[in-house]
Amino acid sequence: MLRIGFIGLGAMGKPMAANLLTAGYPVAVNDVVPAAVAEMTAKGATQAATPKELAAVCDVVITMLPNAAIVEAVVCGETGLLAGSRPGMAIIDMSSVTPQHTRKTAAAAAKFGVEYMDAPVSGGVAGATAGSLTIMVGAEAATLEKCKPILEVLGKKIYHVGPVGAGDAVKLVNNLLLGVNMAAVAEAMTLGVKAGIDPKVLYDVISVSSGRSYALEAKMPNFVLKGNFEPGFAVDLQYKDLEMATQTGKELGVPLMLTNVAEQVFETARAKGLGRKDISVVVAMQEELAGVKVRE
Ligand code: NAD
Repeated sequence: MLRIGFIGLGAMGKPMAANLLTAGYPVAVNDVVPAAVAEMTAKGATQAATPKELAAVCDVVITMLPNAAIVEAVVCGETGLLAGSRPGMAIIDMSSVTPQHTRKTAAAAAKFGVEYMDAPVSGGVAGATAGSLTIMVGAEAATLEKCKPILEVLGKKIYHVGPVGAGDAVKLVNNLLLGVNMAAVAEAMTLGVKAGIDPKVLYDVISVSSGRSYALEAKMPNFVLKGNFEPGFAVDLQYKDLEMATQTGKELGVPLMLTNVAEQVFETARAKGLGRKDISVVVAMQEELAGVKVRE
């Protein structure tokens, strides 16, 4: 059985690593937060002090980290994965980063004979816990073939969308839509309430009409209508995703007007100290501006 390494035991990484242990894989873990490591060793994982040490005892290493700079440090740093690797090892980066960053890190890995795949996910902490994530893979077919049984523990829908970097590109597009749609829900719902319509009626009708979106359907009943903005998908992470999209748009020469406005909506939420709240908190911000409440 392949020996798995898992780096980044946060909101997503912890339940994912736990699912791999439950499936019977030997899992070695690493994180800069000792408590997160302790939680996983209590579940049967072994601990590695550095990514370099972890690489030495693993065939496939999964990274689930906050951003590209950290992924690069964990892979290419002095005590990083490549320093402890041997040819034939594979790295699966499941973090949300740009395709440009992934191609750079993959090229560094190739110099060590290490296979690299981007496999970002959608489905949130609930999907990570249930092992039902949607996984968007950018990889050589042979690398995916080798790693597929592992991905099948973590997700239900696995799409091979192209070569290295392609998974990140699809994820970027998905989260551009989520951010823009969430900002649009905030405007639309406050307008509807200001026009005298009950928020529950707005939700019931729009969720079966052409204005519906995942942002509306997932966030209205469980978050907005209840006035509950945690836990969930953090504003900080959505902001990072929109920033990656606008940056990629600049590099590729694609105007992204709505995306830039949505980025500023989430920038405003961060400036108000709401970075750790669920993305639906932008509705609460818009409530303040419009002087209405979108609540049950
Ligand atoms: P998180 O902040 O909860 O977890 C990140 C983990 O990485 C933390 O445990 C942190 O201590 C660890 N870490 C940071 N620097 C490290 C280093 N140098 N070495 C080892 N460990 C380090 O983030 P998360 O919510 O689990 O998200 C992880 C990735 O998944 C992000 O790229 C995010 O955009 C993406 N994502 C998140 C969600 C979600 O709903 N939270 C959904 C889809 C994708």
